[in-house]
Amino acid sequence: MESRKELLKYLAPTSDAPLNFEVSHAKGVHIYSPDGSSCVDLISGIAVANTGHAHPKVIAAIQNQAERFTHVMVYGEYIQSPQGEYAQALVAMLPSSLNTVYFVNSGSEAVEGALKLAKRATGRHEILAFKKAYHGSTHGALSVMGDERLKQPYRPLLPGITHAEFNNETALDNITEKTAAVLVEPIQGEAGVIAPKDNFLAKLRSKCNETGTLLLFDEIQTGFGRTGNIFALEKYKATPDILILAKSLGGGLPLGAFIADHPLMEKLALNPVLGHITTFGGHPLSCAAGKAALDVIIEEKLVEQVNEKGALFKKLLQHKLIKELRGEGLFMAIQLESFDQAQAFMHLGVKLGFLTDWFLFCENAVRLAPPLIITKKEIEKVSEKILAALDQIDTNS
Ligand code: PMP
Repeated sequence: MESRKELLKYLAPTSDAPLNFEVSHAKGVHIYSPDGSSCVDLISGIAVANTGHAHPKVIAAIQNQAERFTHVMVYGEYIQSPQGEYAQALVAMLPSSLNTVYFVNSGSEAVEGALKLAKRATGRHEILAFKKAYHGSTHGALSVMGDERLKQPYRPLLPGITHAEFNNETALDNITEKTAAVLVEPIQGEAGVIAPKDNFLAKLRSKCNETGTLLLFDEIQTGFGRTGNIFALEKYKATPDILILAKSLGGGLPLGAFIADHPLMEKLALNPVLGHITTFGGHPLSCAAGKAALDVIIEEKLVEQVNEKGALFKKLLQHKLIKELRGEGLFMAIQLESFDQAQAFMHLGVKLGFLTDWFLFCENAVRLAPPLIITKKEIEKVSEKILAALDQIDTNS
């Protein structure tokens, strides 16, 4: 282990306190360490492994595609069936206005593409986003992040960005005929899993209609069944002009996408051409894996079980240190009392056999977003471990 830890010196750090959990392999809801111990993955690597790790059908799709071809050309020039077939499957599940898919590499790149499309289509540059929103880490995505502390070192960022309170109707006053886009997570993730209230998304939709503003939903965490619907837009009955996807979109491989109506999407391709260029966007391996994972979600009827599984966690996880267990389906936050408790919980989890994580903008909570394939028995077993960790924290405090 010590010698493996040595390897870290060759890798750029992202913080001064990584969890340093070592992975040998992963299968289903478990991630295994070289010493043979395992942890239940309660975060799906964050919101990626919705069909669990190493699902045989996803592995087979990757292997088949790898034997046919991997990268052949920059996105958009050649006909690559894994891209077309996956786009067709996605569109079939979406409202009719979301009919054209632009595949990219990641969530951040999908956000960049969607913002660029909104600017091209409206000829405006102002964007409304929300406090405590997270949309990625590249310069454009960072500009719309709803947290000044993480943004400050990189200013100047994009001009014309305003941040409003999520779930507060005063946000509507910020949407004017100058606003190109309103970008929102239907359920705010890094804010600590905050669901919309009082038809907030529908209100944004109608104000955008009045002002000719494009509404953009970032469903990067909420997508693919996690909230009990295949997409959260169904749950809240509001259709965006541009839908942004990533994370579980690639079935465990890197993939992002933004999806819009064809005449809108065409704006990126004409006058001038090549409004967005991406070498690896829509990589054939990622599209094959993503399509296989989507097929698994449908065939195994995973979405239909999500609410029941979420409710079971809520029923079992009763503890005096849990101030609130909130969320939709299997997209949840365990609200504790303090940052220290949340940190202790994460570290104890590794010892007791489960993996969780904190939120960027909600330091007193930890996330609970397991693979959707988790069984009721696995939920019961891991809930006992969670309660044992909380007991230990309580005893030590
Ligand atoms: N939007 C949301 C809601 C996210 O959760 C994330 C990733 N945590 C992103 C965008 C950025 O995605 P990526 O890390 O793939 O660039």
